[in-house]
Amino acid sequence: MEIHRLHLTDVTPSPRLPWARPTYPVFGYLVLHPEAPIVVDTGVGIGHAFIDELYSPVHHDIDDSLFAHGVRIADVATVITSHLHFDHCGQNARFTNGRIIVQRAEVEAAREPGYTVPEWAFPPAIELDVIDGDHEIASGVRVVATPGHTPGHQSVVVDDGPRRTVLCCQASWSTTSFEAATLGDDGWSPEIGVASLDRLHALKPDSVLLSHDPDEWRQAGHPSPTNGADLS
Ligand SMILES: [Zn+2]
Repeated sequence: MEIHRLHLTDVTPSPRLPWARPTYPVFGYLVLHPEAPIVVDTGVGIGHAFIDELYSPVHHDIDDSLFAHGVRIADVATVITSHLHFDHCGQNARFTNGRIIVQRAEVEAAREPGYTVPEWAFPPAIELDVIDGDHEIASGVRVVATPGHTPGHQSVVVDDGPRRTVLCCQASWSTTSFEAATLGDDGWSPEIGVASLDRLHALKPDSVLLSHDPDEWRQAGHPSPTNGADLS
């Protein structure tokens, strides 16, 4: 089961924002499951004046990113949205052939004003597939609730034979903060986030991939440099 990283956007928060920081990437992931492709997160949406002004997003075409691996948007059966911040669900509206899986706690949080871009989080033509807690998505692929960064954040566990990859998404900011089992970022609840990260560590993944860090966390002593994921 191949896993490919999708470099969807680069974001530069305005210095006016309290969480200003240097330009950072926004990654999604493509899991080439034997039944049908699964996408995890869809980056920043396109053409929103307020977001463009505050975050200066540079988009990398999602169609091209998928097609590099032989996948069209219409082929995607499942979109797993780690959380509903604007930089993770921005192109969900394009995936009309698939189900979009979101945690109930995240849907409730995202109804609050100012949380996200509502039309990206709740595309008018799509009914979200709302779940509570851990859930098997397809054989070898399951979501694990990892609240902390947000109330309804979820991560994805991919088991391919003996190899376990966790798409941690933004349950932690970087490989360094993941190693320390902290959010590494401002978030909704650092304490709950620690508990979520302890859960992910307890799964003993061979490899962990994140939303905003180009590096890959690897279990100490793991022999494979990339654990099968294509990080180009
Ligand atoms: Zn976020």
